[in-house]
Amino acid sequence: MKPTKDNSRRDFLKRSFQAGAAALALGSPMLAGSCAKPSSEPADAPAIQTGRTFRWKLLTTWPPTLPVVQDGPKLFARWVKEMSSGRLDIQVYGGGELVPALEAFDAVTQGTAEIGHGASYYWAGKVPAAQFFAAVPFGMNPQQSNAWIISGGGLELWEEVYAPFNLLPLPGGNTAIQMGGWFNREINSVDDLRGLKMRIPGLGGKVISKAGGAAVLSAGGEIYTNLERGVIDATEWIGPYHDYLMGFYKVARYYYYPGWHEPGTSLEFFVNRGAFEQLPGDLQQIVRTAALRTNHWMLCEFEAKNNIYLQKLIREENVNLKAFPPAVLERLRTYSAEVVEEVAEENAESRKIHEAYVAFRKQIGPWADISEKIYYTENL
Ligand code: CA
Repeated sequence: MKPTKDNSRRDFLKRSFQAGAAALALGSPMLAGSCAKPSSEPADAPAIQTGRTFRWKLLTTWPPTLPVVQDGPKLFARWVKEMSSGRLDIQVYGGGELVPALEAFDAVTQGTAEIGHGASYYWAGKVPAAQFFAAVPFGMNPQQSNAWIISGGGLELWEEVYAPFNLLPLPGGNTAIQMGGWFNREINSVDDLRGLKMRIPGLGGKVISKAGGAAVLSAGGEIYTNLERGVIDATEWIGPYHDYLMGFYKVARYYYYPGWHEPGTSLEFFVNRGAFEQLPGDLQQIVRTAALRTNHWMLCEFEAKNNIYLQKLIREENVNLKAFPPAVLERLRTYSAEVVEEVAEENAESRKIHEAYVAFRKQIGPWADISEKIYYTENL
């Protein structure tokens, strides 16, 4: 029986390869040329619009010079321009350049700009459910989040959530799994979290408060000074690459992992629906395709560079790298579950998205256990 099976498998591979090769050939310029329409045929409808140039403004929520997260939207604009031969020309503005960073959502809703880039947990005050599309403490990792958003029905739910705001969400990047943060006191037990003043936004901040700490809000530019002067005892930021650039190693003694509070934060584009619908079909697809490329590119940048900077921090700056003790993580996990449940209770929509998130995670769980999880824990 075995040889027969092998033969049929070989035949299948052969047929698939031939089909794939044919599909590739169909895309080649030579063959496309031979299939070109006779010149007597009338032009297709979209061709009428090819002369029209659309000019958009893209508002990001990031400092204009922040690497990777601000580079992503800039590359997106470049790719859109090149793919559309200049028919969609997007000017990118960093946070504060046209409107304050956290007003980008409203500005795009109102049509002041056509598109924005940020993280959906920034809009938690308006849309509690939006947080599930960015980061959940002890939630899904970047690969799993992407699977939910792109292939697990997440994006469709996200579209529903943003529709009342006249916005269309598109995947826009991922920060990779973050670090736990920079601390000026050791965290040996749950008691060490009591009274801890930590700059940590969002749901992670609520968890730290439950643990008896104080979650402090500081703008990016103030964190370093606050840590240096003892206004705060700790801060989280992103991962080794960005944390190195922020210079936190000069003012904090311990660098903790893992980033339980942001296990891979998904970033987003949000597009004014009216502006999107005015685009001809090909430009709409170009926008969607460039967004997906940005989504992929950003995660790859972080994954490729984080360890280079982690090693610089350890070897050149003598940073004391430490893991949170298991008992501390266990307590943080318990508080996180409570915090996430509180978000789900905020309204019916939030409950619905939470249930979808949990159901997807449960669905993929058994596969993750025997693939990624076992792969890492067994040090294969
Ligand atoms: Ca962070």
